[in-house]
This record gives sequence, structure tokens and C-alpha cells, in this order.
Amino acid sequence: MDVIPGAWRRTAAGAGLLSADGSVAPTIFAEMSAAAARTASVNLGQGFPDEDGPAEVLEAARDAIAHGANQYPPGRGIPDLLAAIGEHQRRFYGLEVDPDTEILVTAGATEALTATLLALIDGPDDEVVVFEPYYDSYAAVVALAGARLRTVPLRRPDFQPDLDQLAAAVNARTRVILVNDPHNPTGTVFSAEVQAEVVRLATVHDAIIVTDEVYEHLSFHSPHVPMATRPGAAERTLTISSAGKTFSTTGWKIGWIHGPAALITAVLTVKQFLTYVNGSAFQPAIAVGLRLPESYFDDAAATMLRKHELLGASLRAAGFEVLAPQGGYFTVADATALGGEDAAAFCRALPERVGVAAIPISAFVTPENQGQYAGLVRFAACKRVEVIEEAARRLAGLR
Ligand code: PMP
Ligand code: GLN
Repeated sequence: MDVIPGAWRRTAAGAGLLSADGSVAPTIFAEMSAAAARTASVNLGQGFPDEDGPAEVLEAARDAIAHGANQYPPGRGIPDLLAAIGEHQRRFYGLEVDPDTEILVTAGATEALTATLLALIDGPDDEVVVFEPYYDSYAAVVALAGARLRTVPLRRPDFQPDLDQLAAAVNARTRVILVNDPHNPTGTVFSAEVQAEVVRLATVHDAIIVTDEVYEHLSFHSPHVPMATRPGAAERTLTISSAGKTFSTTGWKIGWIHGPAALITAVLTVKQFLTYVNGSAFQPAIAVGLRLPESYFDDAAATMLRKHELLGASLRAAGFEVLAPQGGYFTVADATALGGEDAAAFCRALPERVGVAAIPISAFVTPENQGQYAGLVRFAACKRVEVIEEAARRLAGLR
């Protein structure tokens, strides 16, 4: 009887999912949201909007429930959503994607990432290259899939990688190069040179490119360029996105993935034994969202940029050094001048100290690489203006 818990414990410990005392460790997001609730803090930690998304999308979900969309949808997703994803990729990026064979609807980007890595990784000699800091689920899933994680540092102030370091990380064992663009937590948008080098290296070493583009509609200063549009990329790229950020529906967990049919079939093979399907009434609603006029998407990015500007000014006034983002939900700031050279300790104390919750960048960095990121804190800008203003008043008390 001890065999199963023991094996589970070893696997979970290997994946960094257990606390030192052997209990299940909550994610940093859950931990900080709990601290915020306990202390009545303004929660600029976990990245979720505090306002509802477009009324048409919410209404479409209510309508779908009222009209019987309440049982298992098809394994790949409902035809209307598959068609809407294909239309979206053509409308915004000029990509031609066959909805019947080249798209899969998933339980958020999280399941798309998990099913993809489980499908593509063969064994312990396989390597997955990621930029560091990285979204926390990447390292956990690579560990659960039994592969090795190789990190390429993103460097201040713009958080672009060094191309030589990128080239040095990719080799014959590289199975996947996993790129999150726009990037959580740094807010960087990768340059054309970086994208081209990822495609070149993947081609030379016959690796698959997996992109996480959940912030695709929150690129502030230049149109989003999916990696799959770069010359030579489409045949080896799986593109992942999610409705959560684009339509402020993070709890609905509707995501998708597109790419070559053979790769999508491999991912489907795993996905059918993870969730099988999800969100029968949310899928038609997201199809409505993806067909909204261009102005909706432009406004969403412009509004988020204004929130970042307000948040950035507030953080600067409070004494932080701000590293302004080019995209996404988050602004990164250096807390060193405020005694926050250990940002993990700083963030654990912040709710009690001034009533604000934030996330240390250390949560997105492997233990041996903490050095250059140690004083950095991530603040979520996806909150109402009055909430950011209240956070600003509280953070002013740090001086
Ligand atoms: N990737 C990144 C970079 C994210 O920031 C998030 C969530 N915020 C996800 C994936 C997970 O997306 P989903 O909620 O659709 O699973
Ligand atoms: N993606 C969200 C963030 O970065 C959190 C999602 C989660 O709690 N797993 O804040």
C-alpha cells in the first residue's frame, strides 16, 4: 500500500510540487491570493481581471445553457468554435488553418501546454528549452513528463535573450523550444531576430516550436507576430492561445492549439485522457468573441496599456525602478531601493506591511539562477483603475 503514495511523492518532489515538509505546495498565485484575502489587501498578484468581459460573449454563454449546450462537446471542439479560431488566425495573421484537422480546443492554455509536452516528450534524454523567467507550469510539466528543462536567461532592461546563449541551449536532444510571447512575467515581446533564431535553431536540430500566445491581443506598441508566420516555422510550430485574457474569462478555461495535422493528432491522443472535453456552453460564446469587430481588440490593448502607465507611475512614485512592459498583464519592478533585494521575502511581507499583494519573479526562476532576478516583483495591471489607485496610495507608505 505504501508503493503508490511513495511513487507519487517521488514524482511530485521531482517536479517541485511538494513543500519541504512533504505537503502539497500551493502555486505562488494561490498562496498570494490567499494572503491578499486574509489581510484585505489589494491583490495585484494573481493575473485575473476584476471586471467582466464583453456582454455579447457572456450573453452567448447564458443562451447556450438555455438552449441545451450542456453535454459533452466533440473531442476536438465544437465546429463553430473551430471555424471561428480558423477565421481569427486568417483575419489577424493571414494564417490558413484547416479547422477539421489542424485545431484542437483545450481546457485553457494550461491543458494545451500539458498535453503537448506529454505528447512530444519521449524520455529522460529529451530537453525542453524555455526562456527564464518562465510561467510556472512549464517547469512542472516538463518534470512530470520526465524531460530535462534548459533555460535561456532574459536580460534586463528589455528582457530579450542573448542569441549566443540561445544557440548554446539548443542541441540534438532538444525536442521542444517553448516560447511565451508576449511574455509572462517580464512583459517582453520578442524581437524579429529572436524569433528568426528560434526558427533557425529548431530547423537545424529538428525540434518542435511550441508557442504560448495567451497575451496575443495585448501587444502594446506593435502588432503581435505569431512565430508560425515566420518563414519555415509553420511546419514545426504548435501555436497555443486562450480566451481567458482576451475576453476576461479566465475561469472559463477555453483554450486552443493549432499546427500541422499530425502534431495535433498526437496532442489529441493525450488530451482525450486528460479532460477529454470541457466547456460545452462556453465554446459557442468564445466563437462569438473571436468574431467581434477589430475595435474590441484594439480597445482592450489600449485600455491595458493605460493601466500599465498608471501602475508604472504609481510604482515609480513609491520608489520602485519600473521595467515597462511591451505586452501582457504584468509590470515588473525592482524593489531593491526599498529594501526588497530579496523580493520573495518582500512580497511575503507586503500584504501585512501595506496591504498590497504581488508576486516575486523568483517564482518563475530555477533556484540556481535567482541572482539577477532577486529584487524583481511582478504587479498585475489587469485591475480597475480605482483598484490600481488604491494600491498606489498604499504603496506610497513604503517610503
Ligand atoms: N500561459 C501563460 C503565459 C499565462 O500567463 C497563463 C495564465 N495566466 C496561462 C498560460 C494559462 O492559461 P489558461 O488559464 O488559459 O489555462
Ligand atoms: N496565469 C496567471 C498569472 O500568471 C495565474 C494562473 C494561475 O493561478 N495558475 O498570474
